[in-house]
Amino acid sequence: MPSPGPDGIDIGPGLGPAADAGRRPGLDRLLSRLRHIVGDAHVVTDPDAMAGFLIDWTGRHRGQADAVLRPRTTDEVSRAVVECAEVDAEICAQGGNTGLVGGSVPPSDRAGSRPRIVISTARMTDIDDVDVIGRCVGVQAGATVEAIDARAGAVGLAFGVDLASRHSATAGGVVATNAGGIRMIRRGNTRAQVLGIEAVLADGRILRRWTSLVKDNVGYDLPGLLTGSEGTLAVITRVLFRLVVPPRASIVAVAAIDRVADAVELIGTAASRGLTVEAAELMTEAGIALVAAHGHRRPTAASGPFYVLLEVSGPGDVESAAVELLQGAGGLIDAVLEPGPARALWGAREAHTETIARSSVTPVVKLDISVPIRALAEVFDELGAVGDRNDSPCRPVLFGHVGDGNIHVNLLDVPPDRVDDLTDRVFGIVTAHGGSISAEHGIGRAKVAWTHLGREAADLATMRAIKGALDPRGVLNPGVLFA
Ligand SMILES: Cc1cc2nc3c(=O)[nH]c(=O)nc-3n(C[C@H](O)[C@H](O)[C@H](O)COP(=O)(O)OP(=O)(O)OC[C@H]3O[C@@H](n4cnc5c(N)ncnc54)[C@H](O)[C@@H]3O)c2cc1C
Repeated sequence: MPSPGPDGIDIGPGLGPAADAGRRPGLDRLLSRLRHIVGDAHVVTDPDAMAGFLIDWTGRHRGQADAVLRPRTTDEVSRAVVECAEVDAEICAQGGNTGLVGGSVPPSDRAGSRPRIVISTARMTDIDDVDVIGRCVGVQAGATVEAIDARAGAVGLAFGVDLASRHSATAGGVVATNAGGIRMIRRGNTRAQVLGIEAVLADGRILRRWTSLVKDNVGYDLPGLLTGSEGTLAVITRVLFRLVVPPRASIVAVAAIDRVADAVELIGTAASRGLTVEAAELMTEAGIALVAAHGHRRPTAASGPFYVLLEVSGPGDVESAAVELLQGAGGLIDAVLEPGPARALWGAREAHTETIARSSVTPVVKLDISVPIRALAEVFDELGAVGDRNDSPCRPVLFGHVGDGNIHVNLLDVPPDRVDDLTDRVFGIVTAHGGSISAEHGIGRAKVAWTHLGREAADLATMRAIKGALDPRGVLNPGVLFA
């Protein structure tokens, strides 16, 4: 067994097949059957080759598995899952492994005797031709957000989901987490983009709900159910995504401002003046100083305690409308404006997650919360002060999708034995203001102890009943969502 790490998470040398692998009945036969299905090269058991699949993006969560399987087709996934079911093997589906809550890697302990397989969608990257009239596209689960958007862009359309992890995050991953991202304020979350889904159930059967019909009310919304299921109900193999018409022209502005309330007001004013808010992001001086120290350009010449990034589009002269908007903005310290996509202006915002991860001496405690917009300013103040107490000192860096009331709370340099205490404190603030403990990253393994803060007893029982019905042996991503 690996040794417990400083933060209580197993980090020992045991990445990869555990020393007691021989005690797992049926494992050798399972591996040989899996090799027959996907080919020797795609059943990875070498510990070094498996290592990258067994540690999550944050570095907090490390898991153990007997093999990583890299299928190419839905049929291969289905046949592999049938074999896994025969020996009760646990399955962790993995896309780009950019998830931030530990759900993309298997558990760190090997308490039971069940074999454990990671199913990576890395080779399932096909993207169909875009249906331009129906404005949709079918993709395999491993296609990245960037690749889907590029395919849509080639015919003048766009993918409604975008996030800073776009180069690696996959269709299966954004669906399984119901990702939000920077276009959420305009396009809705991933669930709003899903028209159809194909997935392999725990017994290997293929569930297919695949129709581009906008109106189709035959029974339960199964694609909607699998969206946000974090690998606990099925392995998603293909998705039929709705595509959107991108704005003809947009303007990106970054403004240094005095107060969070000024940002909220600016978004409201933009909308009331007929501008369409395509994205609205809030940052603090702590975050901007950190990314500037790592070589990113400061967006504005003068600093402010807060920065708001607004991307707006609209009819007529958007640039003049944006200039007028900023001139009338309350609490304005400085502002800069460029025609979209203005990647350089977005740079400082998009560098936050990676820079923060590199700037903490312990794995960053990442909490992704949302609160009613009216409470945003107060919650920002309270969250900014969570590290002030002597018993749990830490450096908070807050940023987020301000138009959605979503704050990414990053606590740096948290002493390992204070992680739970600080998480409790943050979630206490959030629930006191009627917010959610998971705005967009999901529950994964990281927040499983706090799920009850977000859902009532009957609600949790209903979710467990659904899990029990679709995965009665509890083999799909055990330990994620439910303890
Ligand atoms: C720099 C950075 C920025 C980010 N910004 C955002 C953001 O703005 N908004 C946001 O919501 N998230 C954001 N994230 C988090 C992350 O990118 C998303 O959660 C994303 O949806 C994960 O996709 P993935 O393919 O990497 O999934 P993974 O990390 O591989 O998996 C995530 C979860 O989905 C499950 N899963 C993956 N593929 C499948 C499948 N085929 N079938 C069933 N289950 C599956 C896994 O089991 C796991 O539970 C960010 C991450 C980083 C590193």
